[in-house]
Amino acid sequence: MPFYNLDELRRAAAGRWAQILESAGLPAQLLDGRNRPCPKCGGHDRFAAFPDLQQRGAVHCRHCFTRGCAISPSDGIATLRWWLDCSFAESLSFLADAVGVAPERGDLSPSLPGGGSRARPFAAQNASPCTSPFRTELPQDVIDAHTQFARDAYRRIDPETRRRLAEQLSASEDALRALRVGLTADGRGSTWPMRSEAHTVIGVRISGLPWTDQRRAKWSRRGSQSGIFVARRRATNTTSNADSTTLYITEGASDTAAAIGLGLWVIGRASCSASTFFVDRYIHRHQPSRLTIIADNDEAGKSGAKRLAKSLCQALPQSLSAVDVIVPPVPANDFRAWVAATTTTPIDLADATKLATFAPLKQTTFEFG
Ligand SMILES: [Zn+2]
Repeated sequence: MPFYNLDELRRAAAGRWAQILESAGLPAQLLDGRNRPCPKCGGHDRFAAFPDLQQRGAVHCRHCFTRGCAISPSDGIATLRWWLDCSFAESLSFLADAVGVAPERGDLSPSLPGGGSRARPFAAQNASPCTSPFRTELPQDVIDAHTQFARDAYRRIDPETRRRLAEQLSASEDALRALRVGLTADGRGSTWPMRSEAHTVIGVRISGLPWTDQRRAKWSRRGSQSGIFVARRRATNTTSNADSTTLYITEGASDTAAAIGLGLWVIGRASCSASTFFVDRYIHRHQPSRLTIIADNDEAGKSGAKRLAKSLCQALPQSLSAVDVIVPPVPANDFRAWVAATTTTPIDLADATKLATFAPLKQTTFEFG
């Protein structure tokens, strides 16, 4: 069981709670502070987010998440526990993954530097009966349900809808097929399977179709984990951009589709703060010789990408010595916009701006006398 510094987690999450709760599968359109149907128990107007949602992450439901319930509303961690039906320790694991905070190392013995005072935030976690973090524990029936949902949606999407969506996203229809993009039953949303490092479907991201009234809506299927977007089978054809040993990491599903269209070996994160755990597992399993994170060209995108790079550098696979972070050249805000703006020739990744290179800290002064 990993231990997390509660204060550090709260600091990292403040100001980002809407995205964190969305990555846990809470529908974004319910988090606007108005009275809404409860995503857990229904009704018409019994659920609402508190006004300072982004800072604190608190929501409540008059029926199933209020004072007197097993878990009562207080902050975002309580919200995660209520929504994910998980223990305190599991909610911290989820949160740490979402915000890219690594577990503390070492035990809680008094010899730990500053041990007495640092031990306190961890105490409550010790009481949990949980033996492994939430993120590795998706039960098989939940995986089966996500897989079936994604498969049905993939069979449902017709060639014309796929063509239209590909055109809107500046991606190829083949890329959408490779990602197994499908259509919701009401025909208003596209579905994007999120996978583990072993390609198991562990969640589904849903995005309103650009030509419907749901165009701004983005949410995850209930019970989804923030996995990675990855082509079902890695393309082995050689195109001008194909370099089979460099792995690219993009932010968001549509950037992933755009990169697949260029023949890149790519995985996508559900958001700039999510999916760190599965990215880490993926690179250890597939051992790329180079790793480049393509960040969105805004502050949240850049800091999220750097956080991911730092987090990965805590334990890089043997095949890697560093992680590069690049951003698309201005004025493109993200990778897809860059691809869309370069219609006559394929983009040249060398035109991207290198933001930083991260490498693991080296231990230099050990003496084994
Ligand atoms: Zn409720």
